Amino acid sequence: MNVPYFDLPAQIRALRPELDAAIAHTLDTCAFCLGPDVAAFERDFAAFLGVPHCLGFNSGTSALHVAMRLLNLGPGDEVITTPYTFVATSWAISYVGARPVFVDIEEQTMNLDPRLVEPAITPRTKAIMPVHLYGHPFDVDPLLAICRSRKLPLIEDAAQAHGARYRGRAVGNFGEMAAFSFYPGKNLGACGEGGALVTGRADYAARARSLREHGSSVRYYHDEIGYNYRMEGIQGATLSVKLKHLPAWNQRRRAIAHRYHELLKDTPLQLPREAGYAESVYHLYVARHPSRDKLREHLAAKDVGTALHYPLPLHLQKCYAYLGYKAGDFPVAERAARGCLSLPVYPELTDQQVEYVAAAIHEFKGW
Ligand SMILES: *Cc1c(COP(=O)(O)O)cnc(C)c1O
Repeated sequence: MNVPYFDLPAQIRALRPELDAAIAHTLDTCAFCLGPDVAAFERDFAAFLGVPHCLGFNSGTSALHVAMRLLNLGPGDEVITTPYTFVATSWAISYVGARPVFVDIEEQTMNLDPRLVEPAITPRTKAIMPVHLYGHPFDVDPLLAICRSRKLPLIEDAAQAHGARYRGRAVGNFGEMAAFSFYPGKNLGACGEGGALVTGRADYAARARSLREHGSSVRYYHDEIGYNYRMEGIQGATLSVKLKHLPAWNQRRRAIAHRYHELLKDTPLQLPREAGYAESVYHLYVARHPSRDKLREHLAAKDVGTALHYPLPLHLQKCYAYLGYKAGDFPVAERAARGCLSLPVYPELTDQQVEYVAAAIHEFKGW
């Protein structure tokens, strides 16, 4: 058997007639940049999350960037975030000239550890931006309590967590704003690049709408320095098609994760577990073990694809050497980076494939 790490062709094949019709509609109307197909998706995705405002962007990174602009952040400002994420989280902070201040993660969820946030706050701290990593919500309540007492905005990086719930409510509802990514590999992916900024605040939504379109609300009149961060019409159209399938896809991901848990609980692997407050959408299923490199080779020999999320925490990346962090600063994140191994998890994966992956892991003797 062959178990690819991810199987996008299978997903696209299954949706092909629906996607063809949606793309044909955009071709007929020629509304290629924003337009009615994007507006319809924005309404659908806002309703799906239960948020008042949703704006389509051309990537999750640009949505995060605009979030930082909405807070008027710049040089001299600090934003507290996690060192254990995809680098786009901290790019947004860097793009506005502010400084990412990293805080270590929790052992179980690998999300920002709320207990370590308070001591990292300085007079320059202007926001806290945790990530709902791997589709598992971060612990919102203690972070919101800190934000309220320190009068700091919470920004959610929800790029991996479309439909994940914290205490029953979809993520994206808790911060001043939240950013989603529709990169093709995400739980909800465009046929190309895409992202969204969601917020409960009408003033943020109006300004984000302008920033996304060259800083203008009336064409050729520019109120502030803006960007071309518009979502494409074809992406809005294809995302509306895929959004209808997202609840069933997320359920299937959860079922696969539970099956892995059953099949692997007697192995030396440290398995992901949901916190009591969380309903994860398992964007990734990340197990951990110090021998993961040897296990990875063993699985590759059995035709099982795996990946590493993430092999090097942000504070040790070359691009952030100027921040002055060193190895040992965030031991939990560093240990996670050394031990993490992402197993295949996507809706098209069959039960037989899941069982094959588990059996291949049981055959590994090099722990
Ligand atoms: C994918 C991702 C992003 C960026 O999204 P793009 O759409 O690829 O720009 C940001 N943060 C996290 C945590 C991500 O996984």
